Amino acid sequence: MNSKQLDVIVIGAGAAGLFCAAEAGKRGRTVAVLDHAKRIGGKILMSGGGRCNFTNMYASHENFLSDNKHFCKSALSRYTQWDFIGLVAEYGIAYHEKTLGQLFCDDSAKDILNMLLGECQKAGAKVTSQCEILSIEKLDKGFKLDTNQGQYQCESLVIATGGLSMPKLGASPFGYKVAEQFGLKVKPTRAGLVPFTLHEQDKDVLAELSGISLDARATCNDTSFNESILFTHRGLSGPAVLQISSFWLPGQPVEFDLFPHGDLHAELQKALQQQPDILLSTALSAHYAKRYVQTVLPYLGLDNKPLKQYQGKQLQQIADAFHQWQLKPNGTEGYRTAEVTLGGVDTDELSSKTMMAKNVEGLYFIGEVMDVTGWLGGFNFQWAWSSGWVAGQVV
Ligand SMILES: Cc1cc2nc3c(=O)[nH]c(=O)nc-3n(C[C@H](O)[C@H](O)[C@H](O)COP(=O)(O)OP(=O)(O)OC[C@H]3O[C@@H](n4cnc5c(N)ncnc54)[C@H](O)[C@@H]3O)c2cc1C
Repeated sequence: MNSKQLDVIVIGAGAAGLFCAAEAGKRGRTVAVLDHAKRIGGKILMSGGGRCNFTNMYASHENFLSDNKHFCKSALSRYTQWDFIGLVAEYGIAYHEKTLGQLFCDDSAKDILNMLLGECQKAGAKVTSQCEILSIEKLDKGFKLDTNQGQYQCESLVIATGGLSMPKLGASPFGYKVAEQFGLKVKPTRAGLVPFTLHEQDKDVLAELSGISLDARATCNDTSFNESILFTHRGLSGPAVLQISSFWLPGQPVEFDLFPHGDLHAELQKALQQQPDILLSTALSAHYAKRYVQTVLPYLGLDNKPLKQYQGKQLQQIADAFHQWQLKPNGTEGYRTAEVTLGGVDTDELSSKTMMAKNVEGLYFIGEVMDVTGWLGGFNFQWAWSSGWVAGQVV
């Protein structure tokens, strides 16, 4: 059987794969991108609620989790958020900052996908969908691939198959299996940026708060995020929860400060001086939705009395219950709804300058498949662009 001979094959036509392929093509390399999904770029189209939070103005290595915190520095500094923003501007894509440096398309995530496909087309990189990779074999120089669309040979093989999140959109453990086939270590994986599920006793009560969102500071394992939380009928979500979920380990409590921008005790003292006869629930309703207060007082084991009836340190204890709400999640919603996968191909196995496996000439890993995971806020795409770009310069 005749095999198609290329300089570079990229497996996975997601954010990192498409970007890397375009860069390699611009250098005059012949490139094919192979993806098993029917529809290319499904995750990009869904991202950022359909508007793709494509980068973050404040992206730095501090916004990433990895067993080697330094690994991402080189790629992030060689292809920065400003480089990508420049490309987006070149394509005339309108965008805006939503909050905290997060940049979203004004119109649609389709603009980013079309830009990536446009870059691939300009660079002559061919993208093939519904291509199942059946086997990979290392040759003296390069690799041979068997697929359901024939045989391929290439000098450089780039694995850009992402993590396990959202199997509906084509996610698979393929990249980890390739790493293992070539003797590379893979760090244990788990779902990140994912809502918490609750134990029955919490869920029964808190489900009544479904739809309510509050500003909060979520803290776990010495890390805190000051954003909103959202009660849902399944558990707890919202940006602060998604962020802290990446730092949480099963069995651990998460602490929520439900009055993060002030001193609730001082507010209750003020209310006591001004209106000593009002109920605690009335005083709290100045700061929270009524439905929230009515549900949460009995849940936190607090009586609802006129303020003047609280003695000694009781108002302080009430304030503490809101400032230091301890919740032990039952678990997370898992890969079904997670935005990312923590863990992956061990960065010790890869060059931080090129993303090539140190012990397998010509084999590269880029994007989410490796043990580099961004916070919520455009950081994961920035990692896809930065890691894809550096590999694209050398493959
Ligand atoms: C719902 C959702 C919203 C998100 N929103 C944002 C956001 O707004 N901002 C942000 O920064 N991050 C966001 N993320 C995270 C971000 O999408 C990922 O981190 C990023 O897409 C990773 O890029 P990647 O190229 O490494 O992998 P992916 O984009 O996941 O691409 C992997 C590709 O590999 C293909 N593939 C997998 N297995 C195989 C196989 N066996 N054979 C062939 N092909 C295969 C898949 O079909 C897919 O096309 C979101 C994630 C989700 C799930």
